[in-house]
Amino acid sequence: MASSNPCSNSHESVHSSPFASRYVQNPTPKFVMPENSMSKEAAAQIINDELMLDGNPRLNLASFVTTWMEPECDKLIMDSINKNYVNMDEYPVTTEIQNRCINMIAHLFNAPLGDSDVAVGAGTVGSSEAIMLAGLAFKRKWQSKRKAEGKAFDKPNLVTGANFHVCWEKFCRYFEVELREVKVREGYYVMDPFEAVEMVDENTICVASIFGSTYNGEFEDVKVLNDLLMKKNKESGWDTPIHVDAASGGFIAPFLYPELEWDFRLPLVKSINVSGHKYGLVYAGIGWVIWRTRQDLPQQLIFHIDYLGADQSTFTLNFSKGSSQVIAQYYQLIRLGFEGYRKVMQNCRDNAMALKEGLQNTGRFTIVSKDIGVPVVAFCLKDRSTHDEFEVSVMLRRFGWIVPAYRMPKDAKHVSVLRVVVREDFSRALAERLLVDIIKVLAELDTLPSKNAAKATALAKDEDAANDSAVKKTAEETEMEIVNAWIDMITKATKITCC
Ligand SMILES: *Cc1c(COP(=O)(O)O)cnc(C)c1O
Repeated sequence: MASSNPCSNSHESVHSSPFASRYVQNPTPKFVMPENSMSKEAAAQIINDELMLDGNPRLNLASFVTTWMEPECDKLIMDSINKNYVNMDEYPVTTEIQNRCINMIAHLFNAPLGDSDVAVGAGTVGSSEAIMLAGLAFKRKWQSKRKAEGKAFDKPNLVTGANFHVCWEKFCRYFEVELREVKVREGYYVMDPFEAVEMVDENTICVASIFGSTYNGEFEDVKVLNDLLMKKNKESGWDTPIHVDAASGGFIAPFLYPELEWDFRLPLVKSINVSGHKYGLVYAGIGWVIWRTRQDLPQQLIFHIDYLGADQSTFTLNFSKGSSQVIAQYYQLIRLGFEGYRKVMQNCRDNAMALKEGLQNTGRFTIVSKDIGVPVVAFCLKDRSTHDEFEVSVMLRRFGWIVPAYRMPKDAKHVSVLRVVVREDFSRALAERLLVDIIKVLAELDTLPSKNAAKATALAKDEDAANDSAVKKTAEETEMEIVNAWIDMITKATKITCC
């Protein structure tokens, strides 16, 4: 999609910022493809140089997505980078490897499979595509049933918590399903199963439970949801199913909390998605969706491609894609095995706990993540009267750390939090350094005037100016001005000893 945003400086020529290296003296092409070729060295250098300004992925604590794999697997990935996954006939081994992954993950999620049964699922680009597919399956199933009963089938809805990931909204908008949100509230940031079941009616295609909330890593109680919904289904005669969005939790719970019932052990759970590229420990570009049984995936959605007499079935949104990620997932599954995954996840949990305790010891933070959940540490300032979480986030950036600050969903929007995702490559040593840097930031913030005070002054100034010129600034312009003034102030007022 070409949603190019030709920056704000539209007066700039299409070539800007002359790039001077030993290879080229020409400006960097930005909008129009250059007329002539350049040498491969020059092209590589230009791009490399610009990419240096991206953040360091390893220090990006905002993301759940894998940033480190073993060199052996990096090599496997490069070796298969030229294989199109969709050419199932040409690359039958890759197809077979994907099917093995689906089987292994289905077993991990306790799908009701006999020894020789083949699991039903699909490899996708990530959980988002997986969720589109699972949602489509529910919608189609619901529609077919309504049609058969001679009932209206034009107002499907889906119930989920306000802590949903944006891809659920995407699904609902793209595929015309009403999104019914269960509100969250201060102190309770996941879907309340009682309220969710209240919202279910005959047009509900499924209840989506988030197993590992993006906001604070918390697991929703799928078991309670299942039990309440069983009761409601029995009373109403409906058969509303559950989907579990286990994008991050799907590779945590089976290893750390095997006794926790959230998966196909619960009868109403008909499909589950998981991101292979989160705690599945593969680089970006792989997700999985698994259905409970063949009956839970409407056959009309499956495309059968006849390749030289062999029937290949596919259910994906796109056609071509790389094979590397599928191969990398298989590598991790067999390289680590259950034991290896458990150790990695235990380490992540231990490091998260160490960070959590360190933060608690400062006496300055309230922890809003849970000990049982995805290994993230989400925390907010106890005292926000002078400084807020956004300022902590900005100041940590100067040490190289990317720690996001964001607001909780609607109805708890006044709560903002900082969140650190503890991934495999975030070692204890890094956790300790981060803590040291957070303490430095706190000490520094204590010496700075409150942003609220700066805000008040700026607002007053702004009002004066507005009165003078009778031109009102938009709220956004005012906000930007305050932020800039504030950043200016801290840059001038202080010198941080960076390490
Ligand atoms: C990350 C995430 C998604 C989206 O997953 P992608 O693999 O990035 O497409 C969906 N739901 C939840 C709960 C997530 O954490």
